[in-house]
Amino acid sequence: MSLISIRKEVLDKAVNLHGHLGPFLVLGLRMGLKAMRIIGNPTSCEVFTVMKKPYICAVDGLKAIIGDNITLYEGEGLLVRFYNGKDSIVISVKKNILEKYAKTSLEKCEEDARLIMRSSDEELFELLKTN
Ligand SMILES: [Zn+2]
Repeated sequence: MSLISIRKEVLDKAVNLHGHLGPFLVLGLRMGLKAMRIIGNPTSCEVFTVMKKPYICAVDGLKAIIGDNITLYEGEGLLVRFYNGKDSIVISVKKNILEKYAKTSLEKCEEDARLIMRSSDEELFELLKTN
């Protein structure tokens, strides 16, 4: 069993939206779920990331959780600021995780997605709480 369970419906929704299962899609999902646990229901977010695959795949994972209210900015890693109308929180993916999974080959894509599912929040993310 995974440490953090992603409900099957949520995962299916993201995969349908995106077209395939991969580590960055799951990173987006996990970031959205983490934000939900901290600030309740995020209604929008700003994503700062590299505007190419696989980084951009995270956006569909975020969409599956918070909907279409997502603004994209060119950035270096993968950092998302979530808003719920009152509070905000910034979650970024650790550099070693990005470096490891950005190189995922097509054949290892699903396997790596499952590794991300099984990783703990502490392994994956850095949090910056703001208001
Ligand atoms: Zn993708």
